[in-house]
Amino acid sequence: MNMNFYECCNIRRFLRLLLLDAVIFAIFAASFFVGRTILTAAGGSSGSQEKGIPLPAVMYHSVREGTPAEYSVTPQQLEADLKELKRRGYTAVSAEELCLYAQGTGSLPEKPVLITFDDGFYNNLSEALPLLNKYDMCAVVSPVGAYCEVNAPLYPHDPDCSYLTWEDIRVLEASGRVEIGSHTYDMHSLTNGRRGCSKTDGESDEAYSAALTEDIAAMQMLVREQTGIQPIVFAYPFGAISPGNLPVLREQGILLTLTCREEINYITRDPDCLYGIGRFNRSGYYSAEEFADMLENGE
Ligand SMILES: [Zn+2]
Repeated sequence: MNMNFYECCNIRRFLRLLLLDAVIFAIFAASFFVGRTILTAAGGSSGSQEKGIPLPAVMYHSVREGTPAEYSVTPQQLEADLKELKRRGYTAVSAEELCLYAQGTGSLPEKPVLITFDDGFYNNLSEALPLLNKYDMCAVVSPVGAYCEVNAPLYPHDPDCSYLTWEDIRVLEASGRVEIGSHTYDMHSLTNGRRGCSKTDGESDEAYSAALTEDIAAMQMLVREQTGIQPIVFAYPFGAISPGNLPVLREQGILLTLTCREEINYITRDPDCLYGIGRFNRSGYYSAEEFADMLENGE
């Protein structure tokens, strides 16, 4: 009887332990599968994640006749570039297409390229737009607000040196080939105490954030008033970036920022990949083939 009781207790104890093991195993198994599911849904599973779609970006400034320079190409050079990019199978993409792709709803062509023009020269309209039309390409033009407001009306429509007026910008925008970006309202300077829109030494975070917000918001409002569309692209003057830039730019509706880092970008389904897009400066000193090689090889 005692023996039976003892055996019985042992069996019950054994079954209890077995059940406990089974429960622990079930918890481990469940957490493993749930963890994997969450990782996969977030795109965080290792190994099979692609690096993203390679996107070279070009930074142009002025397009004018005369001697080529570091920040100036001739209309013939621009045409040779567009022809060469087409020949190599590139398709120009807009910032909006890049945003849609990064947000997970759009697609990109096999070899995308982003074409950009900084500073807002009038020749972006008189020289570049006809070529964008001819080669079926699009571009982002990022003017400086104060140049449109003050400089352009004083000396308009000289393809050599004028800046775009608001009327010109409306024509560019209405062409369907050009998106208007922001290159600040009035922070395109190296002599007013700060480098572009970067923070100065000794400036507090609060003071810097307030100064930047005032400038960026003014430009967003002006472009919206003048064209009906608010910029989603911001080009850092001189490529000068401070850690405090991004929160302000995000708050003002900027979805893509352009730097001067000469590197190829990789576009993923993460909208944050569009902040800090690298660009190759198209100096007038290269041939179209040499420059296209740089874009293709990343150096
Ligand atoms: Zn600039």
